[in-house]
Amino acid sequence: MKDYRDFLAEVLIPEDKLQKRITELGAEISRDYAGKEILLICILRGGVMFLTDLIRHIDTPLAIEFMAVSSYGVGGRESQGQVRITLDLNCSIQDKHVILVEDIIDSGHTLASVIELLETRDPASLCICTLLDKVERREVNVPVKYTGFTIPNKFVFGYGLDIDDFYRNLPFIGVVDLERYQP
Ligand code: 5GP
Ligand code: MG
Ligand code: MG
Repeated sequence: MKDYRDFLAEVLIPEDKLQKRITELGAEISRDYAGKEILLICILRGGVMFLTDLIRHIDTPLAIEFMAVSSYGVGGRESQGQVRITLDLNCSIQDKHVILVEDIIDSGHTLASVIELLETRDPASLCICTLLDKVERREVNVPVKYTGFTIPNKFVFGYGLDIDDFYRNLPFIGVVDLERYQP
């Protein structure tokens, strides 16, 4: 694996800007759900960094759970219309206030499928909190309640987001120069 500096086109969102926005999102969620218990469901693996930072800024009783999904057609950089649950929840979400925590929404297919599935399990409420949103790429409508940043149509990595499973550990969001990236 190459050093990320060899293919980093630009730092799109530096660490301090990410952390400031996540602090604001945590405060917003705390206000909106004051007096309620919430369940945050993180979609592995991209959402992990965001979840762990976000919950430090939420001041209402909360539990966390994890799900993993995969698009048909593994290895691509875009999801297709169908997703498969590869790790399901360990708990019931019936009558719970659920917030789905995602790293990025692109076409919207992943979250549309997850939402459709979770709605059948009767939560008290269900909403989406995403760190990044590539709004212009949307193919299916998904109701997003909390957005960290709206970003342009560029392939990004770092802060949970991978390129071929690596670079999730970087504390900022960077843009890949695909001409300089050799897998
Ligand atoms: P969607 O189903 O909305 O098209 O795609 C969502 C998933 O695609 C994300 O959870 C993420 O795994 C992946 N994805 C979409 N855009 C990017 C990107 O710019 N960088 C990375 N690393 N993953 C992305
Ligand atoms: Mg994701
Ligand atoms: Mg990925």
